[in-house]
Amino acid sequence: MSLYFDNNKLFDAEGHLTDDGLYALKDGTLDDLGALEAAEHLSFCDYCLLRYTAMIEAAPECMKQPMRDLIPQVQALMRLRSFRIMTNRYVSAAAAVVLGFVLWGAIGRLGVPDVAALVPQQPAAPRERFGTKFTTAVNGFYKSLDDTFKNFTLTAENGLEQIRAQSIGGGAAKGE
Ligand SMILES: [Zn+2]
Repeated sequence: MSLYFDNNKLFDAEGHLTDDGLYALKDGTLDDLGALEAAEHLSFCDYCLLRYTAMIEAAPECMKQPMRDLIPQVQALMRLRSFRIMTNRYVSAAAAVVLGFVLWGAIGRLGVPDVAALVPQQPAAPRERFGTKFTTAVNGFYKSLDDTFKNFTLTAENGLEQIRAQSIGGGAAKGE
């Protein structure tokens, strides 16, 4: 018998996270695979993300303490979400690919998912590991996106500079 939440009850018939699943994510009772699936879903589903953040905000202050390690994850998701709204669906797709790599890597490291349930361990340990990995991946994604935009801005500025130089040069040539 596993101490973890039953992953079969994580999603409802419509493919959204169940209330129980969200509570399990909040309480840290999901196993690594369940937490990854839930986080991946929250990264693109506004409906469930709003339910999840509402759930956290509704929790009494004393209940918020144990899930402090989840907050960077949620902040990363919120940034991802607001960023997606500012940009477009292609960026969202890129983020999904990044998350896909995170999922892929985690599953590769875990091997058979049941092994984790067989080995007695503290539930907090894998969650922290996952949380850190996830946050790092999202932040890394931001960093590279940021660099891309900086390069783009530089290129655009250089282009403008050239056009300006040409029009000034052209104007001067006409004036002479
Ligand atoms: Zn959903």
